[in-house]
Amino acid sequence: MEQPVIGVIPSLDVQASQYTVHTDHTKALIEAGGKPLVIPYEVSAEQIAFKLDGLYLTGGGDIEPMLFGEQPIPELRPITKVRDSYEIRFIHRIIEWKKPIFAVCRGAQILNVALGGDMYQDMYSQIKTELIQHEQNAIKSYASHDISVERDSLLYTIVQNKTIRVNSRHHQANRTVAESLKVSATAPDGVIEAVESVDDSFILGVQWHPENLAVRGDPYAKKLYEHFVQACM
Ligand code: MN
Repeated sequence: MEQPVIGVIPSLDVQASQYTVHTDHTKALIEAGGKPLVIPYEVSAEQIAFKLDGLYLTGGGDIEPMLFGEQPIPELRPITKVRDSYEIRFIHRIIEWKKPIFAVCRGAQILNVALGGDMYQDMYSQIKTELIQHEQNAIKSYASHDISVERDSLLYTIVQNKTIRVNSRHHQANRTVAESLKVSATAPDGVIEAVESVDDSFILGVQWHPENLAVRGDPYAKKLYEHFVQACM
């Protein structure tokens, strides 16, 4: 069978005029049987979305709070408006074409914002209860905290487990989930760790970095990529 072509949106460093994608993303997609295609923002979603079998959204910097109707708080870190707009447009085109979406970290937030949800600009200053360490000091590929997976979810279908351990490198997180999405996993402190489509389409956003885990053999992370690539076939 033909390998599905999966669009990968890179990060853009506007000052350096440089796109970047960590190779763990492309490796994890390739190892799962996909054919990743990194797309520069000069190629519009309208020009390319219909040719793709799926969309993969990578991690990166913060998201422009105006997109969910807020002024920036002091703790907001650097944003890249052009990336936010590009990804939001792309998400809508891909959904119109009914193609799968797998989004990691920042991707899970831009997915939610694109569909009408909102998020914490900085959960450590905005959530008043005690939080666990979500910007882990451990190395990138260390699964540092637990998440509980909702039973009736695509995520559960994939990992087949109520509790899994994940890595964590975020200070932002989803807050109100868009109407077309639901929460499919939370951290022990209640922080949203995964969102997915309310219907049976493959639209999944995870707050952690499965790419760093999958390429080092983590069985749950590998399953995420395998199921996503399968859904793109
Ligand atoms: Mn976390």
